Amino acid sequence: MRSYTLIAPAKINLYLEIIGDRDDGYHELAMILQSIELADQIEIESNDVQLIRLRCDSKEVPMDRSNLVYRAADLMVSEFPDSFATYGGVDITLHKRIPVAAGLAGGSTDAAAVLVGIDLLWKLGLTRSELEELAAKLGSDIPFCIGGGTAIATGRGEKLSELLGLNNTYIVLAKYRSLEVSTPWAYKTYRSLYGDAYIKDIENLTARKNAVHSGDIVKAISNQHASQVAEKMHNDLEKVVLPEYPQVLKLKESFAKYDILGTMMSGSGPSVFALCESKDKAEEVKINIRNEIPDPDLEIFVTKLINHGIQVVS
Ligand code: ATP
Repeated sequence: MRSYTLIAPAKINLYLEIIGDRDDGYHELAMILQSIELADQIEIESNDVQLIRLRCDSKEVPMDRSNLVYRAADLMVSEFPDSFATYGGVDITLHKRIPVAAGLAGGSTDAAAVLVGIDLLWKLGLTRSELEELAAKLGSDIPFCIGGGTAIATGRGEKLSELLGLNNTYIVLAKYRSLEVSTPWAYKTYRSLYGDAYIKDIENLTARKNAVHSGDIVKAISNQHASQVAEKMHNDLEKVVLPEYPQVLKLKESFAKYDILGTMMSGSGPSVFALCESKDKAEEVKINIRNEIPDPDLEIFVTKLINHGIQVVS
């Protein structure tokens, strides 16, 4: 029976600005999303028992139907019932490498890989925009994860505009294994503290505000100017997460002592990354951070900014 192996890269946020409330209960955002080489691997194959079955090598992800991998497969079954009847069920094996609940879109990229994998298994021939439309039904970060690379994301994160990303840029990424930040908590707290300053007339003001703020970093990216990108990085959620999670603040302060271009929390955290000029610099910073914080609970990776999302490797 045919099987596919897919690579599902994580993402970081180079920029995250909360613009205001939307009528659908989500926040209106302006973000710059960036794929990184750190990735999960997913194997997907048909079975003849008309079931979706999941295996995973990590104890940290839920194995019930709340797993985004299941939810993505379920969505394909409900959208394409005839193909499900023809090709049978799907066995999915998830090799988890991306830290869980880290602000790195780990579950989202797995879900994106399942959409791409089932499209291939069932020979549906969906276009990228059809896959992105399906992805938007599952979660805000999932459309980006399909094509990945570097993109401006607006709306609730699902409206994408691709950018030509930075070449040859590395990051050091650190996350305390046992530390999780709830994304809904982070947004709710931000709203309660800063909601008064939200822009009310989103339709008219989003474009203008984005042009003023995220415009600088977009220009720096298109000029391939990594140090200016680092200078213009921004994440509104740091304002609520850093005061509540001193380890995250401490990580940022530790990174800032070394020869990096800039440091930022990714998404709602608690991952923190430092943009570095070269792989050697990044490896050096990793050693320094490890020496400074020998705590085995702290995971540290050196990884690279990449220009793609889901890849089919075999
Ligand atoms: P985002 O950056 O999109 O907010 P995240 O990186 O913060 O996501 P995930 O790793 O996707 O967070 O995990 C968020 C929650 O989703 C976890 O608490 C986990 O229990 C659940 N989850 C469901 N499916 C998965 C999956 N395939 N991989 C990881 N977590 C999953």
